[in-house]
Amino acid sequence: MSRRWLFADQLGPHFLDEPGQPVLLVESRAAFARRPLHRRKAHLLLSALRHRAAELGDQALLVRTRTYRDAVDQVTARTGDELSACAPTSWAARRLTGNLPGLIVRPARGFGTGEEEFAAWMDRRSGHTLLMEDFYRDARRRLGILMDGGQPTGDRWNFDTDNREPPTPDMKGHGQDQRQGMSLPAPPAVHEDDIDLQVRRDLDEWQRAGDIRLIGGDGPREFPATRAEARAALEAFVRDRLPHFGPQQDAMLAGDPVMAHSLLSTSLNLGLLDPVECAHAAEDAYRAGKVPLASAEGFIRQLIGWRDYVWNLYWHFGEDYRHRNALDAGARLPAWFAELDAEAVRARCLSTALDQVREHGYAHHIIRLMVLGNYAIQRGWDPQELTGWFHASFADGYDWVMVPNVIGMSQHADGGLMASKPYLSGGAYINRMSDYCGDCHYRPSDRVGPRACPFTAGYWAFLDRHSSRFAHNPRMARQVKGLARLADLAEVRDQERDRGQDPP
Ligand code: SF4
Repeated sequence: MSRRWLFADQLGPHFLDEPGQPVLLVESRAAFARRPLHRRKAHLLLSALRHRAAELGDQALLVRTRTYRDAVDQVTARTGDELSACAPTSWAARRLTGNLPGLIVRPARGFGTGEEEFAAWMDRRSGHTLLMEDFYRDARRRLGILMDGGQPTGDRWNFDTDNREPPTPDMKGHGQDQRQGMSLPAPPAVHEDDIDLQVRRDLDEWQRAGDIRLIGGDGPREFPATRAEARAALEAFVRDRLPHFGPQQDAMLAGDPVMAHSLLSTSLNLGLLDPVECAHAAEDAYRAGKVPLASAEGFIRQLIGWRDYVWNLYWHFGEDYRHRNALDAGARLPAWFAELDAEAVRARCLSTALDQVREHGYAHHIIRLMVLGNYAIQRGWDPQELTGWFHASFADGYDWVMVPNVIGMSQHADGGLMASKPYLSGGAYINRMSDYCGDCHYRPSDRVGPRACPFTAGYWAFLDRHSSRFAHNPRMARQVKGLARLADLAEVRDQERDRGQDPP
């Protein structure tokens, strides 16, 4: 049996061919030095890798080297073992594994729809445009999840329209009472051990030595680093929060960053959990009468719909996709954003988002898309630099996740390959979907003047800059026409030019 080289995002049992297979784990300090990295993310990656080595004991060799290639050479010379790997998750890592003679590379694992299945689906579409909904339905049929007699359970594929509710008044925080929220049980606490203490000491030392640069806050580890912790997190989510997941999945609450979200993305992306296993857990809870169908379906859609779709698009669009910049956005990320300086920002939505990312290395998907990404596209920030920022700042960020999500979904830098219009909004959307605006310095309805909401003004300034591009886009034409009704458009233009890259 070959020795299985497990990358740091392939840590669950499903990456081994059988339980006793010998393992190679590689810890490369150089991999942490490529760019400034959120401290919580660096800690989680290192902790998970070392915990896996400790769990496997003599079954695993944990090799600490400068590069992956050094580790492979060392282990092959020392053991004489044949080495195999499941295909890694980035273009760069696949180039590496492709250039290592003798390494057997098996198909990737950890996704409900593999690359061959995606290619077969594409063939069946014979030239029709990509559509996540069709991909998702195909996956539901193939995997037999939420299906009854060949039909979708409940005779509906999609509960999206039920799942876009704003927060209810009793969830919103006001004035003194900033901590309102959904009042759901928090994810189970994970307990740090000696491995975590050593990880913290090592990161401090590497940082002092100038080998790595960390951003963001430190604190007791919040995300699972072992399979046992990840399973406990899944079970607690399905029991405590999944029944409430769904209606408010697009809502944002200043005092409740978790709401009913699963927080399982770090465990899925480390390979500690398999998405199909999580989808089955949600379906079982629905069939046991413990979870409404809309909630189970909404969560399952995120797993075998969006997550698998993004994974496959990363490969489908090719290695050069990351360099796309259809809107010619070239502004550098300002330091206050790059360094997560929440206090420099008066706009409450943006300040809250930066604070969440700084303190937790996490913010849920709508905060990423409609606050952080929305601000970036309005300001014309460089999509490549922004992709790197999301990758480095989020504990669940990986190349395959962030390239399609930022280049395609959030910044429209692919010119519409992935999403037919930019995800862009003014303050009215944020006001409807959150409790941010009530206590903000700005007013969501103001377009000009001292209280002009930077999102509202930025929205119109973006449409103005790109009006010719979007005038004939069926999903944007109405908004572009709206520019003609703005008596104060010249003022908006000047005001936003003067705002420049200053923190709003
Ligand atoms: Fe954000 Fe504008 Fe609302 Fe302030 S008023 S929280 S800047 S959307």
